[in-house]
Amino acid sequence: MQDNRNDAGPVHVVGGGLAGSEAAWQLAKAGIAVVLHEMRPQRLTEAHKTDRMAELVCSNSFRSDDAMNNAVGLLHEEMRRCGSLILAAADGHKLPAGGALAVDRDGFAEEVTRRLASEPLIRLERGEVAGLPPAEWGSVILATGPLTSPALAEAIRALTGEDSLAFFDAIAPIVHRESIDFGRAWFQSRYDKKGPGGDGADYINCPLDAAQYEAFVDALLAGDKTEFKEWEASTPYFDGCLPIEVMAARGRETLRFGPMKPVGLTDPATGRRPHAVVQLRQDNALATLFNIVGFQTKLKYAEQVRIFRMIPGLEQAEFARLGGLHRNTFLNSPRLLDRRLRLKVAQHLSFAGQITGVEGYVESAGIGLLAGRFLAAERLGREIAPPPPTTALGALLAHITGGADDRHFQPMNINFGLFPPMAEQPGGRKGRQSRKPALAARALADLALWLEGWRQAA
Ligand SMILES: Cc1cc2nc3c(=O)[nH]c(=O)nc-3n(C[C@H](O)[C@H](O)[C@H](O)COP(=O)(O)OP(=O)(O)OC[C@H]3O[C@@H](n4cnc5c(N)ncnc54)[C@H](O)[C@@H]3O)c2cc1C
Repeated sequence: MQDNRNDAGPVHVVGGGLAGSEAAWQLAKAGIAVVLHEMRPQRLTEAHKTDRMAELVCSNSFRSDDAMNNAVGLLHEEMRRCGSLILAAADGHKLPAGGALAVDRDGFAEEVTRRLASEPLIRLERGEVAGLPPAEWGSVILATGPLTSPALAEAIRALTGEDSLAFFDAIAPIVHRESIDFGRAWFQSRYDKKGPGGDGADYINCPLDAAQYEAFVDALLAGDKTEFKEWEASTPYFDGCLPIEVMAARGRETLRFGPMKPVGLTDPATGRRPHAVVQLRQDNALATLFNIVGFQTKLKYAEQVRIFRMIPGLEQAEFARLGGLHRNTFLNSPRLLDRRLRLKVAQHLSFAGQITGVEGYVESAGIGLLAGRFLAAERLGREIAPPPPTTALGALLAHITGGADDRHFQPMNINFGLFPPMAEQPGGRKGRQSRKPALAARALADLALWLEGWRQAA
């Protein structure tokens, strides 16, 4: 039988990082020819040091490898089952790190580079893609990461619109709703205002009296912080979005007139307006996650947990992700991308990796895996549904392509708060822990069905 899989020419993948390498691999394994464009070594980013594919720019850890109790461990396992190049290379170069999957970064990146280079269907082309890909390239996956070169970033911004591509993130901590103490906290919008899609009680409010507020400000000022990297500090965009501790340093009342202002809110426990309020806003369509409004921060992670648990109502808070502020390049994916990671206004362009608004090595590679598979299915003329949202891959995809609120979209890492809850869930902290293996087992069973669908369509 004639093989016409590559009649439309190769798929072009731009960016040989975690996501682009994985996308290229998945395409090649489906029999699709790929040209993988990587600008290094001709042009480096501020963080990359080598000419290798999938270079790890900072830590050498892929985080927890516990598939049954940790969402990123589950994502590892799902990716292994999908034939991931990144996970295979990580497993082949792992180092002792307790329950985490840590890798020898040089051996890992060398192996990814060697396997891509020796794959006959992949051609590696060095050089910057300094604008939108030419029309004759046809289908393209853009996986240029948090440090996308300025020329390409500007071209993407011109195509998608001024507000659709961000050059830094401002991540406020995200809390699992079920860990909030509603004996202290209450639902109310400021002045009970009904916004679009709201009912006048959209925010979770945590009250602070004067002594609690003063102690909180002291803790913010004394807390251990991470410094901006030298090349980050010169990013002008940070100016409009100050970390919470910087606001606190500008004056003891600054927060009370800023993100912690209590106006328009009445504590049902006292019938009065509190001295100060911390507000949390719904972060996903499932309403399982809430972010602390205006609390982007450079405090170290352990400090964030300690200090934010001083807030009444958040004493037992469990964090789906902690806050941060970094140079980054990411799309407003919930608004711009369809469920197969294609740009709605230009469907021949797909995106993958950190630029889609996921955060982390594993998440970026996971979205690369999906982008590669979706485009392979399209080239092969197969009808393949996205993975179900009960899987880690599907939950992350569903979040960035629709589940997240596009008005306040910020990068997300994988966590169990993104998964649809089980029909029957035990409550309390112990209940939450015992739920994870059940969510993981459901995910792996549903992934097996999804993969079976792939095999049958092949
Ligand atoms: C300083 C820093 C530290 C980080 N630390 C961590 C960490 O410790 N742990 C973690 O999990 N995540 C970390 N991250 C996030 C991390 O970058 C991503 O998780 C991951 O590398 C993203 O994968 P990616 O494939 O999307 O992008 P990348 O891995 O960055 O790959 C993008 C590739 O595209 C290339 N490229 C860019 N523009 C062009 C162009 N125009 N033409 C051709 N090629 C181009 C780049 O050279 C790069 O190789 C960090 C990010 C930064 C910036």
